[in-house]
Amino acid sequence: MVGGGQLARMTHEAGIPLGIKFKLLSDTPQDSAAQVVSEVVIGDYRDLDTLRAFARGCDVITFDHEHVPTECLRALEADGIPVRPGSDALVHAQDKGVMRARLDEIGAPSPRHRVVADPADAAAFAREIGGAEHGDGHWPREETGRGFPVILKTVRGGYDGKGVWFVRSREEAEDAFRAGVAVLAEEKVAFRRELAANVVRSPHGQAVAYPVVESRQVDGVCDTVIAPAPGLDEELGGRAQQLALRIANELGVVGHLAVELFETIDGRILVNELAMRPHNSGHWTQDGAMTSQFANHVRAVLDLPLGDPRPRAKWTVMCNVLGGDYPDMYTPYLHCMARDPQLKIHMYGKDVKPGRKVGHVNTYGDDLDDVLERARHAAGYLRGTITE
Ligand code: ADP
Repeated sequence: MVGGGQLARMTHEAGIPLGIKFKLLSDTPQDSAAQVVSEVVIGDYRDLDTLRAFARGCDVITFDHEHVPTECLRALEADGIPVRPGSDALVHAQDKGVMRARLDEIGAPSPRHRVVADPADAAAFAREIGGAEHGDGHWPREETGRGFPVILKTVRGGYDGKGVWFVRSREEAEDAFRAGVAVLAEEKVAFRRELAANVVRSPHGQAVAYPVVESRQVDGVCDTVIAPAPGLDEELGGRAQQLALRIANELGVVGHLAVELFETIDGRILVNELAMRPHNSGHWTQDGAMTSQFANHVRAVLDLPLGDPRPRAKWTVMCNVLGGDYPDMYTPYLHCMARDPQLKIHMYGKDVKPGRKVGHVNTYGDDLDDVLERARHAAGYLRGTITE
């Protein structure tokens, strides 16, 4: 696996019962997965020679992030190394411009969008969408000015809300162009909530779909995931799963695909973005599904039959644990475990820094309010924002 973050750490964990020998290309020996994998190569994933040397002796290569340059992936494929997901699929998770163009081609619903050249062009885009009849009820006209607000995104290199700007004017649009990366403009979707439809697909085309989940963000970072999404219309949920399966198939995805969605206030679903690797919105599956996203990702990249994606409990809630003021995350285990015997703690071995994702908790049960309270309490207690 290329990339030594927590996703690699948990994918490695899922391979252990299968006796899979796991080799890691990591930036540093301190990275989350490098601490636990026995065969670690330290090197730069952007360097083709490093990737080639790492790939020697691997049966298959997969990733914990989407930042390996597309041309390096293509070179590895030309060397005959099975790269999963392959470059033709992965490019849609690397480049938001390519993703939007392809989703349009296959008729998958996106927010209105286009690549914009400069702040003036962003303002022109705002006028274009603001000038439309607003018939689909996306955003009340009085709040749009001359079409603003719009969302600007660098097509490459964003994560956790970095590389995303919410702009109200041409002047505010300038920031997005400073990085010198192409910029995609999108209408600001009036959404009820964010959902994720997660599926896993294997090379010979077997695929499974997890229940659609609700994902709540705080300051652009995923905070809570509820599985299944409460109150989701059954027909809409089914359509979201079908859409994710269709995207996986059309793009030839191998492994886990997270389709991040907006549920609009007028009851439609629009694709926000794609991730082709295990994803934060699927962490609940470790304790809440018959087969976790990590286990199914491993099976898919090895072209083994996939495992049952169905939930084990009526409700499962995942809360991310962010770093707080206290570096000690171990002492609070006593209280958290005693308070909730169903609680599962997953820590990533990272140094605690304020606001950094250092772990997550999962808990489950029949009463959603109770499950939510327990998960939030544990995450807050570990972080130090809740003290009793
Ligand atoms: P990242 O690559 O950082 O995950 P996203 O494209 O997922 O970036 O955007 C981060 C967050 O910004 C989303 O979770 C959502 O809350 C908000 N956002 C992104 N695009 C839009 C949009 N078109 N309309 C409204 N909100 C958006």
